[in-house]
Amino acid sequence: MTSKQVVVTDHDEQLGRLLEANDRYAAARANVTSARPGRRLAVVTCMDARIDVFAVLGLHLGDAHVIRNAGGRLTEDVLRSLALSTHFLGVDTVLMMQHTKCGLAGMHDEDLRRITGADFGFLPIDDHAAALREDIDALSRTAFLHPIKVIGGFIYDVETGVVDDVVQWQRT
Ligand SMILES: [Zn+2]
Repeated sequence: MTSKQVVVTDHDEQLGRLLEANDRYAAARANVTSARPGRRLAVVTCMDARIDVFAVLGLHLGDAHVIRNAGGRLTEDVLRSLALSTHFLGVDTVLMMQHTKCGLAGMHDEDLRRITGADFGFLPIDDHAAALREDIDALSRTAFLHPIKVIGGFIYDVETGVVDDVVQWQRT
């Protein structure tokens, strides 16, 4: 397998816009010193570009860990992140938030594998509420995540901005 060399460029327009925006941001940013989420919260949600997680949930910088992937599903990598959130950074509440009009809804693994050429379990979603319950059940049974006291399951409506409170779990 050959690997392409990394080419250093200073004129990619997209990246240039990001750097310009950062100049303005760095000059005016709010500084949060603690890495521990102030609300002891981790939010697991979809990567969908329509979801402004902080605005949707009234969160501010420093309040929460936000872990995003396609579908907002429970994956090995989410478990890896939550192991660190809970054991090192004080997180005891997890919100799993899926959303309407999700690209993974109604899809099938075999089609996604064929189209992408990537041999993953893509965790497509048949029914949001059922998928949330399945993920929250697995999360609540994960032994190393015993510091988690509360798990919520929400569905965010990308058309109205309204969140539907589907599941709430508490450790007894
Ligand atoms: Zn989505």
